[in-house]
Amino acid sequence: PTLSNQIAAGEVIERPASVVKELVENALDANASQIDIQIKDAGVTQITVADNGTGIASDQVELAFLPHATSKINSTQDLFNVKTLGFRGEALASIAAVAKVRIITSIDAKSGTQLEIIGGEFQAPMTVAATKGTIITVEDLFYNTPVRLKYIKTLNTELKQVVDIVNRLALGHAKVAFTLTNEKKTLIRTSGNGDVQQAMAGIYGRKTAADLVACQAQDADFTIKGYTSLPKQTRANRNYLSLLVNGRYINNYQLSQAWLAGYGSKLMVGRYPLGVLQITAAPLLVDVNVHPTKREVRLSKEQQLAALVEQAVSQALESLNL
Ligand code: ADP
Ligand code: MG
Repeated sequence: PTLSNQIAAGEVIERPASVVKELVENALDANASQIDIQIKDAGVTQITVADNGTGIASDQVELAFLPHATSKINSTQDLFNVKTLGFRGEALASIAAVAKVRIITSIDAKSGTQLEIIGGEFQAPMTVAATKGTIITVEDLFYNTPVRLKYIKTLNTELKQVVDIVNRLALGHAKVAFTLTNEKKTLIRTSGNGDVQQAMAGIYGRKTAADLVACQAQDADFTIKGYTSLPKQTRANRNYLSLLVNGRYINNYQLSQAWLAGYGSKLMVGRYPLGVLQITAAPLLVDVNVHPTKREVRLSKEQQLAALVEQAVSQALESLNL
């Protein structure tokens, strides 16, 4: 791998969870309806993501691993109108710079392409039997960057990070069936039937999903839909608030504060609700080009959106006559 590839990789790929995030986002961008993630040793030894999406045409497979190669945007104008989760064209190149990668991909049910990239070196591509979609296997993450390997925390911590990111992605995409398996043990399974509350049941458990109230609100610019927990069901931190803008999971302090404000005095001090709010906005109102890994976006009309979030939550809770 070239030095610049390895430097770029440090920006995007920090730990196994970053690899999982990038591969799953690619699968979502490829319109997959089924995404199966298998990991070994919390992803440090192996990560496999299989999807039934569009696949990559045989003459495009190598290109997909080159830095800045994206099929998703073409112009500066597109950059302000991003409709996909990926757009930088950096993830696959970065992963291939710091791990051993194998891809099998096919755009139809006839045959596909298999390609291995080891230490950034492309092996000869092969034509293989394959079904439509893409399977990417990433082995021995950071094997060639020992310093970065040292920053890997305990497997338990890494596994938690993987589970957390898959949870969020699955909650944000209830129409996609997800499985996450660690060493043959299934950790997450969602049906993909589109029901967000059911996806929440698959992730947080049935009991938790039963104590939710549906929220919604809309104005000229934004639509909000989702679920928030009854005040009797809270958590000790705000990690269970999932905010998505156009399917992209974000961190946004102002919006999560607005979410809490929707509870008025119904929350006990130091307790936080749990839930999922999906925000739909015109892509032009959302600048996603802030930082490759930070879950931040710049929102036009953020104040207006915050007020709408508060309204969605407070109206939902008021409707219960608590
Ligand atoms: P980006 O997602 O920012 O475009 P990536 O490096 O993540 O960049 O992927 C590079 C390209 O490879 C994508 O633009 C897409 O064309 C292709 N690609 C990657 N993963 C998949 C997949 N699972 N299914 C179909 N195409 C894929
Ligand atoms: Mg991508």
